[in-house]
Amino acid sequence: MNTLNKTKSILKKFNIKANKRFGQNFLVDDNILDNITNVSNITKNDFVIEIGPGLGNLTNYILENAGYVLLIEIDEKMIDILNDRFNGYNNYTLINNDILKINIDDQIAIIEDKINRKFNSVKVVANLPYYITTPIIFKLLQDENRIDKITIMVQKEVAERMIAKSNTKDYGILTLMVKYLSDAKIEFLVPKEAFIPSPNVTSAVITLEKKKKYVVNNEKMFFDLIHCSFAQRRKTMINSLFSTKFNNLDKQSINYLFDKLDINKNTRAEQLEIEDFIQIANNI
Ligand code: SAH
Repeated sequence: MNTLNKTKSILKKFNIKANKRFGQNFLVDDNILDNITNVSNITKNDFVIEIGPGLGNLTNYILENAGYVLLIEIDEKMIDILNDRFNGYNNYTLINNDILKINIDDQIAIIEDKINRKFNSVKVVANLPYYITTPIIFKLLQDENRIDKITIMVQKEVAERMIAKSNTKDYGILTLMVKYLSDAKIEFLVPKEAFIPSPNVTSAVITLEKKKKYVVNNEKMFFDLIHCSFAQRRKTMINSLFSTKFNNLDKQSINYLFDKLDINKNTRAEQLEIEDFIQIANNI
C-alpha cells in the first residue's frame, strides 16, 4: 500500500484527524519520503533520532535503514498508532514528550547503555511544525553534542535564511549561527501537495552537517554579539551594539574597536561576514 492510502486508512482506523495545535501535516508522497531518506544518508551504523514522527510515514523508511531509532513525539494520540504500526521492529524507542524539553545526549546514553551498543554517528531527521523550526535548530546545533547531521523539512523561506549571503534581507542571526556550526545545503523543494492536509507554504529539505570551522575564544560572547548586532538591523552596528548594551561596552570602546579592526563605523550588521564577527568577538 502506498503512503497516501496507508495514511487514510490509519486516520480512519483510529478515528482521528490532523491536529492543528501540534502543526500536523503528514507527508504522503513516497518519492519525497524516499528522497529524504537518501539525502539523510542513514546506515545501519547510525543512531537516528526522528522528531515528530506523527503517523510514522517517514519512520517507515528510516527504521529499515538505521541501526537504532529514537522517536520523540509530543502528541499522545500518535503513540499507540506508532507502536501498532511498527510492532514488528525491536530497534526503536518511542518517547512521548516535547523535543524542547528533552536532553538528547542523555537519552542516547541511556539507550546505548540499555542495548549495550555505542554509536559513532548520530543523525536527526525531522518533518516538524514550522513554528518551532528555529528553536529546534538552535537546540540541535548548539546544545547537543552527539549529533553529526540533521536533515530537516522547513518552510522554503527559512531554508533561504539559513544559507543567505551578506547584504541581503535574509541574512541574519539564523544564517550566522548555521554557518558557524555547520555546512548547510538546500537539497530540494517540496510542494504543498505532498502533505495532507496541505500547508500554506512551499517547503524545503535542508541538510546541516555539524562542523567546527572557526576559532572563537568565547562562544557565549560571540553568540551575544550576533544577537545584539542584528537586534536593530536598520541601525549602524555600533548603535545596535550600544543600545542593546552588548558586553556593557560604552560607545567609545566600540568605536575604538571598529577603528582598530579597520571596519567602517557606518557599517550595518548585514554587511559583515562571519569572519568579521569572529574578529570583533576575539578582540574584545
Ligand atoms: N513526520 C511526520 C509528521 C509530520 S507533522 C510526517 O512527515 O508525516 C509534525 C509532527 O510533529 C506531528 O506528529 C506533531 O504532533 C509533532 N510535534 C509537534 N510539536 C512537537 C514537539 N514540540 N516535540 C515533538 N513532536 C512535535
